[in-house]
This record gives sequence, C-alpha cells and structure tokens, in this order.
Amino acid sequence: MDGSIKTGLRGLFKVNVLQNLPEKIKSLRAGLISVEEFQTWINSASADELKLVPQGILLRLKRGGMDKVMLASVNILPDCVNCHGIYRQGVFESRNEHASCSKYVDQAVQGNVLVSIQKPKWYKPKAGQLGPESYYSCTSCGSIWNLVEPERQCNGLWERIA
Ligand SMILES: [Zn+2]
Repeated sequence: MDGSIKTGLRGLFKVNVLQNLPEKIKSLRAGLISVEEFQTWINSASADELKLVPQGILLRLKRGGMDKVMLASVNILPDCVNCHGIYRQGVFESRNEHASCSKYVDQAVQGNVLVSIQKPKWYKPKAGQLGPESYYSCTSCGSIWNLVEPERQCNGLWERIA
C-alpha cells in the first residue's frame, strides 16, 4: 500500500516538473524572464527532475546562449493547430513554393493567426539563408516563425525558430 502511494506521488511530481520546464521556456521566449534567470532555475533543478529531457538538449538549455536555448525550445514546446498547418516547414523546392507559402502567411496575418514581429535579437540566421527574412509570432501559442525570400540559388524557407 505504502509503495503504491509513493510511486503515485513520484509520478505526479515528475509531471509537475515537466510542466514547469515548458512554462519557464515560454516566459523566456515572451521576454518575461532573462536567460540568466532561466539558467539559474534549470541549473538548480535536480538531475532526476530533468531526466526525461534528452542530454544534448539539456546541455544547450543549461549552458547555451539565448540562441541555443531557443533552438532547443523547438524540441520542447509544441506549436499549435493554428500555426502548424500554415505551410510545410523547410527549404522551398521552387520559387513557386515560396509564392504559395507567402500567400498563406499573408492570409494568416490578415486572419490574426500570426502577427508580424521584429527579428528576435538572439536569432542568428543560418549560413545558407540569403534572401530577406520576415518573422512572425503565433497569436495562440507564441511560436516564432521565419520566412526567408528566395535569393540566387536559395529558394527560401519557412521554419519555426522558437
Ligand atoms: Zn501556434
């Protein structure tokens, strides 16, 4: 009897801790806490509390700069039905694909599913990203998306960056 109660409590505790981590990352993404505050919190959490988080991701969360932490956040925070289905994520295969994605993104902005935002200060565009970029935040879940225009050999891309 005692044993099963203990196991039950421990299970509950783990769920709570895992709910804390996404909440903390959301606060960080929304600019409510600093990366230093976030890392003070995560570095004081016990190994047991965070053991369901993959090692590589955990290291980035604990020691990385804001760019690394936000990159890792994509693996922890889900996007939502509103922003997930706007367009397939990744590099476009053609100029036409960019044109369709761009049209859907415009519609999402008009429908207030996305809002246009400034480039996040922490974001470092990838080496192959040549064209002008625009950034959007989902009004439902807070995910941040990046739309890159075609330029020379690059057809552009649509990607969730936080
Ligand atoms: Zn969303």
